[in-house]
Amino acid sequence: MIVMKFGGTSVKDRAAIERVIEIVRRAPAAAIVPGDGANGRREAPVVVVSALAGVTDRLLGIAAEAGAGDIDAARANVRSLRQRHHGMASVVIDPALRATLIADLDREFDELDRIVGALAVLGEVSPRWLDAIAATGELASSRIVAAALTAHGQAAAWVDARAVVVTNDEFTSAVPVADPTNAAIRAAVEPLLSQGVIPVVGGFVGATGRGVTTTLGRGGSDFTGAIVGAALGASEIQIWTDVDGMLTADPRVISDPQVVPHLSFEEASELAYFGAKVLHPATIQPAVRRDIPVRILNSQRPEASGTLITATRPPGRRAVTAIASKTGVTVVNITSTRMLMTHGFLRRLFEVFERHKTSVDVVTTSEVSVSVTVDDRRRLPAIVADLSEFADVSSEGDLALICAVGDGIITDRAFAGHLLSAVDGVPLRMVSQAASRRNVTIVIAAADLPAALNRLHDQFFGEADDSLAGGGLQPAAPSTEYVGPSFSSASQDRS
Ligand code: ADP
Ligand code: ASP
Ligand code: MG
Repeated sequence: MIVMKFGGTSVKDRAAIERVIEIVRRAPAAAIVPGDGANGRREAPVVVVSALAGVTDRLLGIAAEAGAGDIDAARANVRSLRQRHHGMASVVIDPALRATLIADLDREFDELDRIVGALAVLGEVSPRWLDAIAATGELASSRIVAAALTAHGQAAAWVDARAVVVTNDEFTSAVPVADPTNAAIRAAVEPLLSQGVIPVVGGFVGATGRGVTTTLGRGGSDFTGAIVGAALGASEIQIWTDVDGMLTADPRVISDPQVVPHLSFEEASELAYFGAKVLHPATIQPAVRRDIPVRILNSQRPEASGTLITATRPPGRRAVTAIASKTGVTVVNITSTRMLMTHGFLRRLFEVFERHKTSVDVVTTSEVSVSVTVDDRRRLPAIVADLSEFADVSSEGDLALICAVGDGIITDRAFAGHLLSAVDGVPLRMVSQAASRRNVTIVIAAADLPAALNRLHDQFFGEADDSLAGGGLQPAAPSTEYVGPSFSSASQDRS
């Protein structure tokens, strides 16, 4: 059995949903299960879907309007989202199924309208209510896809993500609790699969043990796909998106990225963590635990072979497999007020970040000072105040991070020289190489990112070498329209 997760652009309009129906119909796991009657039966995949492209951003906008007391704007936007979803229902050709779908969608949007009205009176939106609002996108899109598959002759059933993904109560970046989630997924999904019915689950959404709606953080539908795949012991988790796979660098910055055909779990997780938005950083963890391959595929070019991610990959000759990058990075410099760093200094320092629930990405130290990068600036004033009790602190925003990742970095003697010569002339704020030596990260001014990334990309991927097993690269198809959450907010909100 395979899990097929479709991102926002893969369900953005009627034509996209029709492509999804065709992709599911042709799924390799839609094989005949032997021994079940004379003809056997189709083994259904599990489908996980994101909100229609742009909808989560619109919902968060509605929440902000409600919080600001602008009820007219919020209600008008709820109406237009309702209409967009009604419009999508035309993909369901069967009139009875379509009427049921429209009634289901209306229940979701009536509830949204009620919440928005109440919050506009309060003039405040807590993270808990933000999640209730944001979840509408996936709850609605998954109902549409379930009805569309059924109407096109592939029996499908909507599975309420709030009943199967059990999380803690860290609203807006909730973490699933493994045992109850696995048990609930199996109980809801396995009976459907055994009847050949395709379960359709909205990604990104969960609920606490007490049934309060949560979300897994921006881009979290990939994570749902992996959680579902791990719970069911899937043979493969497919992430269907709008690019040909993991590319050698962000296609919004580099004009000629190439597709990486094969990545190790560790490479994929470093790339995702350091900004390769095509994969949510948490996605890989459940797949690693069960050793389930993950494949990134393009729903607009389903024939392309995509990127396969497995525990290990055949060695290539290139040191660097791909380069991740992100903007919106802030460096905090912390200098001990004593001459040398005293015993316990680092512990105190990291406790401050922990207390403020702000994760630190890159760390460098010298004899008396420590520099760290953070994505999330929301708690920065409080963090600086707490650190100032025992250290001198300064911070610098508007920075960008570039992370070169590759299992081959470990053995390439020329790597550091090549990296530094490519960014010659660009002032470096931080440079860090992990002891595992799978990645090297540099921090620079955000304004320098396009030039520096292009030069690094030319340095490491200047000539494609298709002869390498595992390391061979393929040119990517021209990048398609991008509609979705912004690059930096996705990395800020990782769970
Ligand atoms: P989905 O809606 O399918 O979840 P996302 O927008 O979350 O899609 O992720 C796909 C986007 O990730 C691509 O359109 C691309 O712009 C961006 N991206 C950033 N870095 C990379 C990379 N290294 N490889 C592929 N895509 C990347
Ligand atoms: N719809 C959510 C978002 O835009 C989750 C996802 O698409 O993965 O972040
Ligand atoms: Mg995504």
